[in-house]
Amino acid sequence: MSFEDWHWQLENRISTVKELEQYINLTDDEKKDIEEVSKKYSWSTTPYYASLMSTNNQECPIRKQALPNKNELFDPFGVEDPLHEEEHQPTKGLVRVYPDRLAFTVSNQCAMLCRHCFRKKFVNMTETYITKDNILESIEWLKENSEIRDVLLTGGDPFLNETDWLEEIIARLREIEHIEIVRIGTRTPCTMPQRITPELCSMLNKYHPLWVNVQFNHPKELTEQASKACEMLSEAGIPLGNQSVLLKGVNDDPEIYQRLVHGLVKMRVRPYYLYQCQILHGTNHFRTPIESGINIIKKLQGFTSGFSVPVYLLDTPYGKCPMSPQNIVYRDEKSVSLRNFEGKIWTEPNHMPGKETIR
Ligand SMILES: *Cc1c(COP(=O)(O)O)cnc(C)c1O
Repeated sequence: MSFEDWHWQLENRISTVKELEQYINLTDDEKKDIEEVSKKYSWSTTPYYASLMSTNNQECPIRKQALPNKNELFDPFGVEDPLHEEEHQPTKGLVRVYPDRLAFTVSNQCAMLCRHCFRKKFVNMTETYITKDNILESIEWLKENSEIRDVLLTGGDPFLNETDWLEEIIARLREIEHIEIVRIGTRTPCTMPQRITPELCSMLNKYHPLWVNVQFNHPKELTEQASKACEMLSEAGIPLGNQSVLLKGVNDDPEIYQRLVHGLVKMRVRPYYLYQCQILHGTNHFRTPIESGINIIKKLQGFTSGFSVPVYLLDTPYGKCPMSPQNIVYRDEKSVSLRNFEGKIWTEPNHMPGKETIR
């Protein structure tokens, strides 16, 4: 097994300072912070993703997404389940907020524990482990509910499943006539592109129409390996979209964001969504006011190809609400109120008062 093998990447994941020091230089303060934060929020990254980190620059966008930051412990606003997902689960693993489509958790494992993950608590925890029986039960539920025409496989990361098991899940969904579309949300092309193997692609190619959404947040992630992984998926006939998260100090700059979308479309990945960072515990240091997202979109719209411009939105317990003039019913320094697709109003804090971050 080697660096090019995804099982090797998984087995050699980095989750201690000692392992990390083989890739980058860390100050004593950074080491102390990583150790302190990891008592509350675990961390883990692949050797591949670590190899993209800047050796000395603490501001490196790759480091920020992968490594614990002391500010995670100072978040007066964050909540555990910002989407109230537990209220929307017909079975363990299904999350439904829309009439015709839903999210289906088929793994609670990820290649990397992203610091901004909105399922921070769920991923890699043994008590949230999704069993084969849970998955089969969800498939039974889907058979009975013919209004569902679009199923989004999510997690964790569906591609952390072995190809055979993933195929079994997809094949069973394909037997259900009313399910027209199967989609997969995965970050592996970004964090562990070795997962995109010819075997995986030829398996997926049998089950069209299949769509895949990936997550790249910064142009530094658009490497040759990532590009190859996306190309292999495209060649298997799969349209690719990108869902990025607006992260302070990573991509909240219109120039950086433009480089990201231009890089993506060159890789045949269409920018799909730009998410406002959730009010999720331990992510206060990443959150921006919604004006930064609006400004990024304003600087893209018209200045670049229409298909390079994602929709900027906030995910809420009422569904995803685009931050567009017709949906923003109220906005000031303190809060923003958004209309969902059914006309319900969701209010979210905007500029966080006392958003003091340390250091
Ligand atoms: C995001 C999401 C979907 C898919 O939404 P689209 O806007 O169609 O991409 C479906 N169900 C849930 C629960 C979601 O969070």
